[in-house]
Amino acid sequence: MSGYALIRDPALNRGRRFTPEQRKADALVGLVPSGRPRSLREEVTRLLTKLKPLPTLIRYEMLMAVLDRDEQLFFATAQANLPKVLPMIYTPAVGDACVNYSDLEIPMRGLWIGFDRKGSVRNVLDNWVGDVEVIVVSDCERILGLGDLGAQGMGIPVGKLLLYSACGGIHPNKCLPVVLDVGCDRDDIRTAENYIGLDQKRVRGPEYDAFVDEFINAVVDKYGKTCLIQFEDFGTRNALPLLEKYRNRVCCFNDDIQGTASVGLAGVLSALRIDGVPSTLKEHTFLFLGAGSAGLGIAMLIVLALVREGVPEEEARRQCWFIDSKGLIYDGRASVTDAKRPFAHKVEEPVKEVADKGLLEVIKALNPTALIGVSTIKGSFSEDVIREMGARNKRPLIFALSNPTSKAECTAEEAYTYTEGRAIYASGSPFAPVSLPGREGNLVPGQGNNSYIFPGLGFGVTISGARHVPESMLLVAADTLSKLVDDEQLAVSCVYPDLNSLMDVSAHIAYAVCQEAKAEGLNEKPVDHLDFKTIRHMMYEPGRGEM
Ligand code: NAP
Ligand code: MN
Repeated sequence: MSGYALIRDPALNRGRRFTPEQRKADALVGLVPSGRPRSLREEVTRLLTKLKPLPTLIRYEMLMAVLDRDEQLFFATAQANLPKVLPMIYTPAVGDACVNYSDLEIPMRGLWIGFDRKGSVRNVLDNWVGDVEVIVVSDCERILGLGDLGAQGMGIPVGKLLLYSACGGIHPNKCLPVVLDVGCDRDDIRTAENYIGLDQKRVRGPEYDAFVDEFINAVVDKYGKTCLIQFEDFGTRNALPLLEKYRNRVCCFNDDIQGTASVGLAGVLSALRIDGVPSTLKEHTFLFLGAGSAGLGIAMLIVLALVREGVPEEEARRQCWFIDSKGLIYDGRASVTDAKRPFAHKVEEPVKEVADKGLLEVIKALNPTALIGVSTIKGSFSEDVIREMGARNKRPLIFALSNPTSKAECTAEEAYTYTEGRAIYASGSPFAPVSLPGREGNLVPGQGNNSYIFPGLGFGVTISGARHVPESMLLVAADTLSKLVDDEQLAVSCVYPDLNSLMDVSAHIAYAVCQEAKAEGLNEKPVDHLDFKTIRHMMYEPGRGEM
């Protein structure tokens, strides 16, 4: 390769880090200025310093530009500084980025497959170059908690795959972000002058199903049956049906349902080890605010975990209760969808009476030990709600999982303040540690985000060549994640491991997933030689040895 081509290849470009020998050998002299070559470490520090004072979107633009020309610098910066960099490339920044996507100055990244290409999806796929092993696909009907953003939602598949590489060690060349552009129902977005997507309302019904089917078939045809397809941020009406349709046909999972479930369950399992929290799952009652993909997913996995402990399924389901936009879900209430039906429990009159009286009254009636927010309603865990949980529980679990930060049901500070520091709090987007007056040390909110699960899960699936992603893989991923939370974390009420250890976390999860793939007879590749150390070493880490 000529030096000229080399500095334009993001995987090979080292910019000012090319050594004098490389500059000479690769005909780079003159193409790189003559000053002292920089070390990777220096450049990472310089980049971070530069990013620090910038507004979110400018920072995002700058990072996407770095990614486009210098992958080593981008991923080395991310991997050495995950707690700092994740919020810049993933939640919450990616929410802003998606809202403003059409107006950003960023290089095109990903594959937008428009509904106008119906019948020739395979041809569109052929325009992509790379040894694809993981695809994140979205139709962008429900981006984070922000709703329908149309083709602008590309920030999410891109962001998720950046985390696959930055936290899960999958080479960027193996990642393909896809938006199925089937239209947008938000007039303000779709008709904006600069909008990047198709100017049409969302395609629904059989035409939509056929289009998704064409895409799935094209993927299997081109990349094989072990190519992992992650469904991301589909609207609730499509998310579960698509998962049901494809989970036993191709290698796929839905991150909003299953990834969330795994990370949610892991947080709960960790909390069981904290003094003052009832120590078995059986003793808990979970009240969910929000009965969409995320809430139902978490509950379904909690039920599986309970069944594993010997609780009959029917009883296990009764430990999970849901409030949706119409109030408490119960057997006999109007407008309970099929997906919600397993959690529509038979109730007595006093419970029925409070069903539409709001969260506080439902808490008084059901006496939950854990409150799980997946409603996208900011502030819905109000002061009186949090205080009521505190009055009823020595250590209440309060998980405000809605993303981005602006949608969180309550802040970390609120949860701690109104329970005198007793709440075990986790959030979907990051919150800083909190110190309470008169209390020694900080309380540390755990970030109950899927990023703890999907990168490792995906890596495990790809290296084992798993044909499917059974629910048991999500269960072992949750177990593994929870076991990695050490006593120091638990002592500050944090139910997730330190984000700095995310690559190790992913390697542990990948190991567990490989073992599970083998146990289920799903692995197309041998896994016996894959211990933790081998897996950790296989991970993409372009700054290894240089940082
Ligand atoms: P979704 O499918 O749209 O579900 C939202 C649910 O909230 C629906 O059941 C809806 O009720 C309910 N809801 C809306 N307004 C409400 C209100 N005023 N009171 C009570 N319930 C209300 O969305 P999702 O996929 O489940 O995601 C929900 C949130 O979780 C999003 O903010 C998302 O970013 C977040 N999330 C976080 C993670 C994480 O890693 N932490 C992972 C996935 C998702 P109806 O059913 O009646 O419409
Ligand atoms: Mn999502």
